[in-house]
Formats: sequence, structure tokens, C-alpha cells
Amino acid sequence: MSCLFCKIIAGEISSDKVYEDETVYAFRDIDPKAKQHILVIPKKHLESANELIGETADIVADVFRAIAKISKDQGFDKSGYRVVTNCGENGGQTVGHLHFHVLAGQAMGWPPFPN
Ligand code: AMP
Ligand code: ZN
Repeated sequence: MSCLFCKIIAGEISSDKVYEDETVYAFRDIDPKAKQHILVIPKKHLESANELIGETADIVADVFRAIAKISKDQGFDKSGYRVVTNCGENGGQTVGHLHFHVLAGQAMGWPPFPN
């Protein structure tokens, strides 16, 4: 198994876990881009959003159920947050295991790229 996030799920690489259930794992990003930066990932290895086809896409509901719980547990459900999944080269994806960035703890700009 060569996938970094699969190794994190398996406990072979340590992580700062914030949530886990049968299908989803969440941990703090090692290089946070906001005051709070949590990565929420399916335990099943999927390369990217490109693989969310047919029944495989059902995992997204599990991910967002987890995000709703995490946002309450961490206390940023009311103040707000942003959920991002980077896909492929132009999306800026650097780890090939589908993940959702949950960014919180401060106001964010929009659009999210420089002019
Ligand atoms: P992306 O660039 O969208 O593929 O996001 C990958 C994210 O994984 C980046 O924000 C990295 O900071 C984060 N990351 C990489 N390695 C680790 C690690 N060992 N533990 C936690 N986060 C990581
Ligand atoms: Zn993986």
C-alpha cells in the first residue's frame, strides 16, 4: 500500500484524528491553510472526485454527515466554514486519495484564486 492517506487510516502514519466512523476518517492538516484545517476522507481508496460515479458517490453523503458533526463538535458550525476538494493538476491536488478540506476559524476570501 503506497497511499499516504491509506497509511494514515491504517495507523501506520500518525495523525491528529478528530473523527472516525465506519466509512470516514478525519484529521488535522499537517500544514494548515486556515486557523482550523481538517481533512475528511473516505476510508475506501478513491483517487479523486473523478471516481464519484454511480453508487461510489454515496460516500459523499457519509463525508458530509461527518462534516456536520465535526463542525458542531469543533464549534464552528455557527460561525461558518468552507469545504473544498481539489481534483487533478489544475485543481491543485497533491495527494491521490479523495479528501475534503474543511477550513474554518476565520473569514475567507472569494474567489479563492489571485486576479
Ligand atoms: P491537496 O493539495 O488538495 O491534495 O491536499 C493535500 C493536503 O494533505 C495538504 O493540505 C497537505 O498539507 C496535507 N497533508 C500532507 N501530508 C499530510 C500528513 N501526513 N498529515 C496531515 N496532512 C497532510
Ligand atoms: Zn488511499
